[in-house]
Amino acid sequence: MKNHKRAWAEVNLCILEKNINTIKKGMSSETEIMAVVKADAYGHGEKEIINKLSDMGVTYFAVSNLDEALSVRKIAENSEILILGYTPPEYAKEIAANNITQCIVSEEYAEILSKSTDMTVKCHIKIDTGMGRIGLKYKTPSECCNAVKEIMKNKNLDIEGIFTHFAVADSDVPENIDFTKKQAAFIKSVYEELCNEGIKLRHIHFLNSAGVSYHYDSVSTLARIGITMYGLYPNYPLALPCELEPVMEFKAIVSDVKTIYPGDSVSYGRTFIARENMKVATVTVGYADGYSRLLSSKGFVLYKGVRCAITGRVCMDQMMIDVSEVENARAGDTVTLIGREGSDIITADELASWYGTIGYEVVCGISKRVPRIYIDK
Ligand SMILES: *Cc1c(COP(=O)(O)O)cnc(C)c1O
Repeated sequence: MKNHKRAWAEVNLCILEKNINTIKKGMSSETEIMAVVKADAYGHGEKEIINKLSDMGVTYFAVSNLDEALSVRKIAENSEILILGYTPPEYAKEIAANNITQCIVSEEYAEILSKSTDMTVKCHIKIDTGMGRIGLKYKTPSECCNAVKEIMKNKNLDIEGIFTHFAVADSDVPENIDFTKKQAAFIKSVYEELCNEGIKLRHIHFLNSAGVSYHYDSVSTLARIGITMYGLYPNYPLALPCELEPVMEFKAIVSDVKTIYPGDSVSYGRTFIARENMKVATVTVGYADGYSRLLSSKGFVLYKGVRCAITGRVCMDQMMIDVSEVENARAGDTVTLIGREGSDIITADELASWYGTIGYEVVCGISKRVPRIYIDK
């Protein structure tokens, strides 16, 4: 997509590489990175992200569904691709034919999936150790181990591993730290019992970004890294043990600058009324670009290094900002919605905190109308 400089996102692949190398330093060589590239690589653009990761030697990818898996398969022909969620069993053949690995969400699902094809489907069994979402749920590791063994009897399933997902690994509250430890202990016991019975699965994995950051454990053969690879925090502003840098910046252009006077209003609903003479600039971005309307009169942007407040409601394609403190504000200038200007930075995490969401939602929400521009030098 060509950049005609209205609203665009700059994705820096060198920073991605740096983040991956930083994350690797926090793990032993027993754990391999499984790059989570669902939702178009968290809005960063899966093709370029996957190509860069492949060049770096990453061979494991995780996605949310079959469409994403097929799309990754076209980009990284020889990679391992795990679908983290449910796929209707009628697609078993398509999963197998494309050498994709499917998550087993329940015993019933395993049985139907196996009966839906005569090809072999590679699978990882999901264990629900406390997330309460998908997966086998048992009171004890032994019962769970028996259930895994039952699933392994299905003729057309090749069970390569078991995995679980942490619910509160991003928290520093003692009860939550304890909860995470229990989740890890449970799946490790299941794996051990299987080993004791002579079943040595290739994979056991339970680490997400927060897991690697705060609960690293070399028993996990894979680390399903999403948000930290993109340089955002699992739980902003809780500190990370390593320094990461956001991969994406989000920018737009000033289209108009005007002086307004006491009593003048700005944008729909007239929610903003000037109390004094001020300078207001219009910016070429709106909620249809994924810049949330919830940021109306709440958000800030960087413009020539100055933090400028949003005045009034964010419109579909445009919004207005207070540029009274900006010298020589002019149409055609670039405004940074997410990113660095001088010594100041607005991260997707900070922007998210202004309207009660998380950086994940912000980057995933930058719409397809916004061209992604790649920097790799
Ligand atoms: C999305 C997802 C991840 C990645 O989570 P991050 O917090 O971005 O690292 C890992 N595992 C599962 C099951 C997921 O759904």
